[in-house]
Amino acid sequence: MKAVIKTKRNRGLEFKEAPIPKVGLRDVLVKVRIASICGTDVHIYDWTRWAQHRFTPPRIIGHEFVGTVTKIGDEVTRVNIDEKVSAESHLSCGKCYQCNNGYAEVCRNFKLLGVDHDGTFAEFLVLPEHVLWKNDPNIPDEWATIQEPFGNAVDTVLAEDVSAKTVLILGAGPIGLFATGIAKACGASLIIVSDPNNYRLAISKKMGAHIAVNPRKQDVTQIVMEATKNNGVDVVLELSGNNQALNQGLKSVTPGGRISILGIYERRVSIDLNKEVVFKKIRIYGITGRKIFSTWHKTSRFLSSGLVDPTLVITHRFPLKDYEKGIKLMKDGKCGKVILNV
Ligand SMILES: [Zn+2]
Ligand SMILES: [Zn+2]
Repeated sequence: MKAVIKTKRNRGLEFKEAPIPKVGLRDVLVKVRIASICGTDVHIYDWTRWAQHRFTPPRIIGHEFVGTVTKIGDEVTRVNIDEKVSAESHLSCGKCYQCNNGYAEVCRNFKLLGVDHDGTFAEFLVLPEHVLWKNDPNIPDEWATIQEPFGNAVDTVLAEDVSAKTVLILGAGPIGLFATGIAKACGASLIIVSDPNNYRLAISKKMGAHIAVNPRKQDVTQIVMEATKNNGVDVVLELSGNNQALNQGLKSVTPGGRISILGIYERRVSIDLNKEVVFKKIRIYGITGRKIFSTWHKTSRFLSSGLVDPTLVITHRFPLKDYEKGIKLMKDGKCGKVILNV
């Protein structure tokens, strides 16, 4: 089979032949139809500091996909041949304290698909059956592949309810754009989106943002205060991983409000904890992965019911062999979600 493989400890990837993986007793072989590119894949391509510490070649990369079950192990009971599936990318152990307490997304022994386990940028992949998600047949393939990042957005927005609340979203990459659509669908009364990329700000308006702010040209906190009669917003969703944006969020949230943080920061961040958190009584939620599988159920319903339409966020399509074109677009920021037809 053909696959996109990280073969060496340096920049770049290779498109080459690989053996079809073997199926264990509780494993499932999936024929990949579509995979989508995530920021993680770009880090691996670029061989960033994170990748150097976290990743060991050789490995097939990618963790977002939709595919068809083509072979099942003898003890598999959850899925059948020809079923259309996606999968949770955090391959949990099912045995640790976190797994036993309903927090499998922070399993102490989890393996990351496309990092610790061969991934989805290939014609076939093998997964343990317990991470598979059976797709709603009403959801088109291009939407099914983005359920994994969409689930990140679901948990970030819905850490607490947002109905009739004012919301500031920092970062309008694909997850920020999904979050905008979800906040809109859940009845947020005011949605302000901030991002330095005007291409993405334009999509955010179509996804439901009332105000789109470019922080390089405008003062985010000032715009929030003007739009909220100087109260500040009830909810801040920090998806940018930018220290300055985080501080704008802390200044913009109303006392007693909440912040959900999914962004990943390159270095330690500096915040005025006393002034911006303790004395304002702010609740901060760290968000990682998705709740397994309650978030997948919500994601599936948002998409199958038409409550959120992600069509505008999916901006580019390439055949798998042209993966590099997609990665380049992402680095230039001239895209929403990029998908690869396998
Ligand atoms: Zn991802
Ligand atoms: Zn575990």
